Amino acid sequence: MTYHCPKCQRVLYNRRLTHCGFCGAPIPEEMRFKAEESAALEQKMADLEEQRRQRQLAADKAEEEARRRDSGDPGIYFT
Ligand SMILES: [Zn+2]
Repeated sequence: MTYHCPKCQRVLYNRRLTHCGFCGAPIPEEMRFKAEESAALEQKMADLEEQRRQRQLAADKAEEEARRRDSGDPGIYFT
């Protein structure tokens, strides 16, 4: 979804701006990212990143355990 300046019709590349970067026209409130909205978005991104990291950690651990199982328990030898 793209937003355009109401005055010059150019694409607003940064919705956090309060004024158009090209012509300086004020950007209507409803077209801007509200502060709490962007904060919530950043929090969501951070949460997703954390979940991804946890999944990776769990996958690494499972892989490590599988490797250990495959190589057998070094504590038991039948000779
Ligand atoms: Zn403009």
